[in-house]
Amino acid sequence: MLKPYSWLLFDADGTILDYNTAETHSLKAAAASFGFDVNPEILSLYHEINSALWVDLERGNITSLELRVKRFDSLASRMDWDVSAVDFSRTYLRELGNSGFMIPGAREMLADLPGDMQRAIITNGIRDTQYGRLKTADLMKDFSEIIISEEAGSAKPAAAFFDYTLDRIGFPKKKDLLIIGDSLSSDIAGGIGYGIDTCWFNPEGRENETGVEPTYEISCWDGLFEIIK
Ligand SMILES: [Mg+2]
Repeated sequence: MLKPYSWLLFDADGTILDYNTAETHSLKAAAASFGFDVNPEILSLYHEINSALWVDLERGNITSLELRVKRFDSLASRMDWDVSAVDFSRTYLRELGNSGFMIPGAREMLADLPGDMQRAIITNGIRDTQYGRLKTADLMKDFSEIIISEEAGSAKPAAAFFDYTLDRIGFPKKKDLLIIGDSLSSDIAGGIGYGIDTCWFNPEGRENETGVEPTYEISCWDGLFEIIK
């Protein structure tokens, strides 16, 4: 049977990999190594700082190198922690790179995909960290290409990121591609801007008040199989 798409471009964090669990684990482990405790208030402060910096990154206002240190600089100064942000960041990233936590059902979904559909990861993130996590989760075999914003030199939703992606996967026709991701601002907006169909993975049933309209919305992986059957 003719498949409507021949390439599935999966976002990593919040779609295949469980970033929230990995982040909490890594932040606690890094803080503990410097003698600090991370309670829920500190975790939520960190989220606030980190999210704001990721928005800056998506807008191209800061680099990923700046982001990875700045977030701990802000956190340490707010918490009065006497620690080098560079050292903290290095420890945190080492922990994160060893975290292979996955989104429930993602592994089974990948195993059940038709063998003739090619898959790539398209992720905004740090090269070593993302490769480390994909390897720890034993996912390298599941994707023919891993596209990481740090290597691309630009991040979703920028067109330059998708220029780089298409180059890496051999310039298939845009109509043969489907982007699957949990972020309206990076995955879905990026796909719309570039003329690629999009599938919003929304397991928590969040309201979409952004005006960014995905081609499809799914709440679980069964929904993806409905689209590609
Ligand atoms: Mg994501």
